[in-house]
Amino acid sequence: MGDAFEDDRNRMVAAQLAARGIADGRVLEAMRRVPRHLFVEPGLQPHAYEDTPLPIGARQTISQPYMVALMSEALELADGDERVLEVGTGSGYQTAVLAELGARVFSLERIPELAFRARDLLDALGYRDRVTVEVGDGTLGWPAEAPYDAIIVTAGAPQIPRPLIEQLGPGGRLVLPMGEEELQGLVRIRRQPDGIAEEYLGDCRFVKLRGSYGWEEP
Ligand code: SAM
Repeated sequence: MGDAFEDDRNRMVAAQLAARGIADGRVLEAMRRVPRHLFVEPGLQPHAYEDTPLPIGARQTISQPYMVALMSEALELADGDERVLEVGTGSGYQTAVLAELGARVFSLERIPELAFRARDLLDALGYRDRVTVEVGDGTLGWPAEAPYDAIIVTAGAPQIPRPLIEQLGPGGRLVLPMGEEELQGLVRIRRQPDGIAEEYLGDCRFVKLRGSYGWEEP
């Protein structure tokens, strides 16, 4: 990429991701490519590669790099053109990582100002062909584009939103944080021929998933 943050980015990938067990080389490579500093507010750019979430406005956050890597890996994307629904565009950083992994991403964000900002940035970075961002309640999914090979929810859900299960294709994976307001478990749901399998991948802490099948709107 050759920008002023390239060394920071490579250090982030080595120390925060590879050293902590992210083993999928495609995820590591994708996160070496995406310029995370462009997805944070200008004043926070010097902190963009630190081991932490950061505020992005509207009381929301860009997720910690490790969490982006862990969730990207957990989606088990095949090479090329898998259809992915993302619920919670936020800054668009996770969206860009998914696009770098070769996915065709449909991303929903409930806060218009975040959706529009992310869309503009993703377009400017050349992801227009792979990414569509819309404003909407992602707990309802995006039925017109279903079924999906994978669905990622980047806000904490009180339960699994039923429409997302319904929009998951055969063999599809749904990765979401689920649990209490303050602490959730990262869960992977897999649609198998004989039903739904659920795996626990570790503890995590996300802002709330709000909407029809999420927490109540404030
Ligand atoms: N992955 C994002 C990134 O890389 O910047 C961070 C996402 S942030 C932790 C969670 C986002 O989910 C917030 O922007 C929030 O507005 C959004 N959100 C919460 N509930 C939602 C819903 N029902 N539909 C769509 N977006 C939702």
